Amino acid sequence: MSDILRDISLELDEIRAANLWKGERRIVTAQSGHIKVARDGNALEVLNLCANNYLGLANHPELVKAAHEALDSHGLGMASVRFICGTADLHTELEQRIASYVGQEDAILFAACFDANGGVFEPLLGGQDAVISDQLNHASIIDGIRLCKAARYRYGNGDMGELEASLEKARGSGARRILVVTDGVFSMDGYFAKLSEIRALADRYDAWLMIDDCHATGFVGPQGRGSAARAGIKADIITGTFGKALGGAAGGFIAAAKPVVDLMRQRSRPYLFSNALPPAIAASASKAIDLAEAGDDLRDRLRDNASQFRTEMAAAGFSLPDGEHPIIPVMLGEAELAQKMAAGLFEEGVYVTGFFFPVVPKGQARIRTQMSAALSPQDIDQAVAAFIKVGRELSLIPGPKPCPKP
Ligand SMILES: *Cc1c(COP(=O)(O)O)cnc(C)c1O
Repeated sequence: MSDILRDISLELDEIRAANLWKGERRIVTAQSGHIKVARDGNALEVLNLCANNYLGLANHPELVKAAHEALDSHGLGMASVRFICGTADLHTELEQRIASYVGQEDAILFAACFDANGGVFEPLLGGQDAVISDQLNHASIIDGIRLCKAARYRYGNGDMGELEASLEKARGSGARRILVVTDGVFSMDGYFAKLSEIRALADRYDAWLMIDDCHATGFVGPQGRGSAARAGIKADIITGTFGKALGGAAGGFIAAAKPVVDLMRQRSRPYLFSNALPPAIAASASKAIDLAEAGDDLRDRLRDNASQFRTEMAAAGFSLPDGEHPIIPVMLGEAELAQKMAAGLFEEGVYVTGFFFPVVPKGQARIRTQMSAALSPQDIDQAVAAFIKVGRELSLIPGPKPCPKP
C-alpha cells in the first residue's frame, strides 16, 4: 500500500477509536415523518426526527406534480452555467418569487446555499473592507469568508458586547465597507440570532447585515418569511436554501437589493462556474413557496409538535436548552453516549442522529431532534416514550418511581 493510503487508514482508525465515526443509513422510502430504513437486508419502519423537513413538504404531492410537469416541459437539466445558455424561465420566476417572499428586491439562485455563502463575500468585500461573523455561523459562511480579502472579526455566539467591540475596531481601522453576518437560527442549538440588537448595532456603525436563514425560511415569522420578518427588521442580504423547509430538494439563493444581485451575476464564482439548478427543482421550489406562504396550518402543527416534545422531554428529566425553534437538542455530553442513544432509539423505531465534535464543541455531544409538520401528536408521544425507555437503560434519567411498599 502506498504511504498516502496507509496514512489515511491510520487517520480513519483514529476517528473510529474516538467514537467520532459518522455512518449513513439508507432510507428506502420518500423523505417524510414515517420512513423505512434499510437494516440487515430488511427495511425497518421508523419515526423520523432528524430531517430538515420542517413543513413536511419533501414528499408533497403538489411539489412532486410541479416537478413532473417541468421534467416533461423542460427536460432534465440545462447542461450549462446560467449565463452561457443555462437560464430557464423557471429560474427567473423562482428568483422573483423568493425575493418577494423574503422581502428583498431581487435574488440569484445557486446549486446550494453552501455555494451562495461561498460566493457572496468575495465580490462584495476587498482588502479595504471588514466582515464580522458570529462564532457559531455555518461552515459555508466560514469558508466563504476565507475566500475574500476583507479583515475578519469574530464575536462569541450572540455576544452583543463583542459584536460592538468588533464594529468599533473595524470602523477605527478605516474599513470602507463593514458586513455583519449571522445565521438567523443557529442550527446546533435552535437559538435565534438577536436580530433587532444586531441591526441596531450595525446601523450605529454604518455596517450592512447579512442573514443566513436556512433554518427559518418557510416556517419562521409571519407567512414563514424568515427570521428578519419575525424580528421586524430588514437585512441587507439574505441567503437561504430550498433544501430544507422549502421542499427539501436542492438549491440556494442570495436575496438583496438589485445592484447587489447584479454584481453577483457578474462576479460570484459558484454562479459563474457551476451548472444551473435543474428546472424541475426550480418549479417545485416555486410551488413550495406558494404552499409555505399559505401554510399557517403547517406552521401551527410544527409549533405544537415542538412545544409538546419540549414539555414532555423536560418532564421526563432530559436536559434541553430553552427555546421555541423546532430544532430541539437533547444534551448528552460525550460523543459515545450520543452514539449509543441514537442506536438505542433506532431499535425502538425512532430515527435521530448524534452530533458531536467537530460539529459541536467537545463535551457538548447531543441528539439533535427536529420537529416536522409531517408528525402527529401521537408520533411525538411515541418518540418521547422511546427516549424515556432508552434514557433509563443508559441511566440518563431516573427510573420510574418505585411503588410505595405497604
Ligand atoms: C443547511 C445550511 C446551509 C447549506 O445549505 P444547502 O442548500 O444544503 O447547501 C447553509 N447555511 C446554513 C445555516 C444551513 O443550515
